[in-house]
Amino acid sequence: MNRLTIIRAAALALALVLAAALPTAASAVTPAGVPPEQLVGCTPELLDRLTGLPVPPIDPTGTVQPTQEQRDVLAGLPPIPLADLPPGLNVLTCNIVGHTVSYGVTSATVPLLAGASITISELETGWESVEVETLGSGEIVARHEEDEEAEEDADLGTLGSSDGCSQRSWSVAAFRVRSEFAYYQNINGRGSGLTEDEARTGLKSGFDIILTNANDCNRPDFMTLTARRLGDTGYLPGYGDGRNVIGFRDLENNVKGRAYLTVANGALTEGDIAINGTDYRWVNTITSTCGVSRHLASTMAHEVGHLYGLRHSDDYDNALTMYSKSSPCRTHKATLGYGDMVGLDWAY
Ligand SMILES: [Zn+2]
Repeated sequence: MNRLTIIRAAALALALVLAAALPTAASAVTPAGVPPEQLVGCTPELLDRLTGLPVPPIDPTGTVQPTQEQRDVLAGLPPIPLADLPPGLNVLTCNIVGHTVSYGVTSATVPLLAGASITISELETGWESVEVETLGSGEIVARHEEDEEAEEDADLGTLGSSDGCSQRSWSVAAFRVRSEFAYYQNINGRGSGLTEDEARTGLKSGFDIILTNANDCNRPDFMTLTARRLGDTGYLPGYGDGRNVIGFRDLENNVKGRAYLTVANGALTEGDIAINGTDYRWVNTITSTCGVSRHLASTMAHEVGHLYGLRHSDDYDNALTMYSKSSPCRTHKATLGYGDMVGLDWAY
């Protein structure tokens, strides 16, 4: 056991003791039903927000989960701006588990107290993210990253799919997908470019590309992971609701797609992907009349890359699937480049 592990174990043990000391009886509760010991660390603004809302359980082992009803109510609230969270906020004394925290247009759900867990949200265009981590001690650590050079579109000229075979940059996050990824599809809100079946096929294609290492570089497939469709759902992607949902929804008007990733102890525990079906027209095949349509498989491959832990490539490697920008009518992200494959190879 290394030193970090010992510290983490000690913190978790402390959290267990603290949680055990919390009253379970209904005595002396506020109108919100929150034991006062869970509110002493809140700011007045946070106290106002919590009044009358469901109170998710705080369980250091992570085995007691919020109910679906609680998740749905909390997911529908306006987010708490990251700047409104006081430093050192601890969910044992200010229970904001299940609430959404935002930075700019990006948001993440405060995870259960389960050792260490992280939620990441990230844009397809213009790197911006917020990460919210609940430590074993109950303390919340939130941070954001932003790419100042974010642009709406990239002018990718005559770039071809094989150009990525010579581009080598890659970056991998600290989590992995540990088992078969089973997901629902939401094909509502897909816009005018796709039939229902085409939408299902296009959403699935990103998984096929990543998991078969589809490429024009004569590089063999090496991944053994699988993904499985469970069927259609009406639930929207982007909520920490315990289901993996891949589908369409409205996003900010310069955002094509976004991956919402919930991570605990180094493993992905929930992965949602949202495709902006409101501001963009999506197609599965690019033709001479493409206009401003977008290739769904290309954007899906990028987002599924995030789901499996890939981060953006360097900004000069514009032919890679994990390049942060995209443009209309282009299909090159639907075949992996060298850096994309080395990143996956390293992670899996
Ligand atoms: Zn991205």
